[in-house]
Amino acid sequence: MIIIMFGPPAAGKGSVAGILSEKYNIPTISTGDMFRKYISNGSEIGKKANEYISQGQLVPDEITIEMVKERLSENDVKNGFILDGFPRTVKQAEELDKFLKENNRDIDVVVKLEAPKEELLERITNRRICKNSDCKAVYNTKLNPPKVAGICDKCGGPIVQRDDDKLESALNRLSVYDKETAPVADYYKGTERLYTTTLSERENRLKDVVSADIIKYLDLKKKKNNGKRNIEDECR
Ligand code: AMP
Repeated sequence: MIIIMFGPPAAGKGSVAGILSEKYNIPTISTGDMFRKYISNGSEIGKKANEYISQGQLVPDEITIEMVKERLSENDVKNGFILDGFPRTVKQAEELDKFLKENNRDIDVVVKLEAPKEELLERITNRRICKNSDCKAVYNTKLNPPKVAGICDKCGGPIVQRDDDKLESALNRLSVYDKETAPVADYYKGTERLYTTTLSERENRLKDVVSADIIKYLDLKKKKNNGKRNIEDECR
């Protein structure tokens, strides 16, 4: 199973990916998390990436695509994987397709998560994360605060706000999404891979409901494809 989580910052990609990852027993690969880990290690790639991330800009394609290809060559993705935050440009989407085709694989679904812009901005600026890169638990100061302020419920690590979640950078990221990332959805349109849905607290469409819808969609798609295969077999 290959799933792409697509959508603007704070659309809920990581939360839904967590549920789907458990359901299908496949790893989630978040390019944002990978970059943050490189930054905290002080590595060269981290230093370069941080020049862009701190400004709310996208890290250049050459760096990002290579990093993802390397990750997708590891053993644990053999049964499938979920990409969270990649592709973010049409070039990345093309390169991903090329890479998967070379490996006789294909994307099962590109999940496009939508939410009203004001809700996204509120979620971004209220988001806090556990600084421990092995934990990465996510909190929201209003909807899901930690039990003890500033301390992670899961690992006891410090809870911080990402620099790029501060208002100015957040606004920048939303406009970069509109300009550079939103067109990626058009790339997938008409290929029977795009599934668009809304994750919104105000509309009472929370991550569990959204994830259940995606699972239903994938079940139906599988049944349909199996049906097609049976008909093709009978015609042989
Ligand atoms: P995220 O955690 O997905 O919000 O990503 C945090 C930041 O990492 C983004 O704002 C970008 O600067 C960078 N980033 C993550 N994924 C990509 C990508 N696929 N292409 C370029 N930059 C990325």
